[in-house]
Amino acid sequence: MDQNPPLTPVFPSRLPEVGTTVFTVMSALATKHQAINLGQGFPDFPCDRELISEVNAAMLADHNQYPPMTGVAELREGVAEKISDLYSHHYDPDTEITITAGGTQGILTAILSCVSPGDEVVIIEPAYDSYRPSIELAGGITVAVSLLANRNDHGCVTSYSIPWDDLAKAINSKTRLIIINTPHNPTGMVWQSSDLDRLANLVRNTSALVLSDEVYEHMVFDGRSHISVANHPELVARSFLISSFGKTFHVTGWKVGYVAAPAVMMKEFHKVHQFNVFTVNTPMQYGIAKYLKKADHYLGLPSFYQAKRDYFSKGLEQVGFKLLPVAATYFQCANYTTLDIAQSKMSEAEFCTWLTSEIGVAAIPVSAFYAKPMESGVIRFCFAKKEETLSAALARLQTLSKRN
Ligand code: GLN
Repeated sequence: MDQNPPLTPVFPSRLPEVGTTVFTVMSALATKHQAINLGQGFPDFPCDRELISEVNAAMLADHNQYPPMTGVAELREGVAEKISDLYSHHYDPDTEITITAGGTQGILTAILSCVSPGDEVVIIEPAYDSYRPSIELAGGITVAVSLLANRNDHGCVTSYSIPWDDLAKAINSKTRLIIINTPHNPTGMVWQSSDLDRLANLVRNTSALVLSDEVYEHMVFDGRSHISVANHPELVARSFLISSFGKTFHVTGWKVGYVAAPAVMMKEFHKVHQFNVFTVNTPMQYGIAKYLKKADHYLGLPSFYQAKRDYFSKGLEQVGFKLLPVAATYFQCANYTTLDIAQSKMSEAEFCTWLTSEIGVAAIPVSAFYAKPMESGVIRFCFAKKEETLSAALARLQTLSKRN
């Protein structure tokens, strides 16, 4: 027995409830079992060579030292122009836009900049798994309401809707922030203008701010348009808008995104940002700034991803999954309880683990987007993959329909 006490003192965890993020866990499991990874959301196809050339050119032009704390001016100007063109709100690129190390850093920094200990923050579950720990790190109290699950006669979830009554009850004088996410990960649902109007009605006489996570803004299907908080003159005055170039330009590993907010809010955001990452890598910002100038580089995304959605969903349906509608994002949610196999009785997490190890396809349990145990028999597949990847995954999944 070792008689020496450990050299590292015991210390209480700041996040006692938190383990490793489900996306990392499922990716590791996929690697272990050589499964096709449709779990963590990232494209498996290359980004445009033109974007890489622009970054190379920026490096060769010696753009390799610190950029301004808020980001390269050309990129902030490009973001302001894009938002103004698409959503008709003009942000001042100098005082209202900051380039961040991806959406997740933007979200954490926004929360740390406005939430004080004891403040309440409303989230809508299923919710992206970084929201709750970010609120906890700020000392805030998470108030979670759940999307309403609409079910068919067999009890199968067929779609979700916004829980307006619960939201109204959740918002009070202690509410500092409400986090919304449209297009929504994992369900693929989108907010309409009328939804933003309803939210505006709820917050009008309160001091609640809004954080709108819109990282999937350019993947909206079937001829719909993305409705941003920037479309809403009243909400925009109290909102942080978050987006991500990783999602839009197929470079999730570059970790470059942005936050837009009114100058009074951005001033506080900067105070946290400068001592968190300080700023974001320079050549990527110059490269993205050049690439962003051509609107085709993001306006073509809906048809590109819609074709993948249609191809993959058709195959999943043939296997026997009951699919939930996907209005946007690169995720397809599917109900597996309809499958005629013994495993369809498993919990979502068990089913995803089994699917990864035995069938060779990784997916994400939607229950991972809830803090309290919540089983709806729904799992999330990412279809941001080459057609050959999707077809290989479907071939493996097809064995589910031949069991029994
Ligand atoms: N946003 C991605 C997803 O939902 C994951 C990002 C991450 O792993 N941090 O799959």
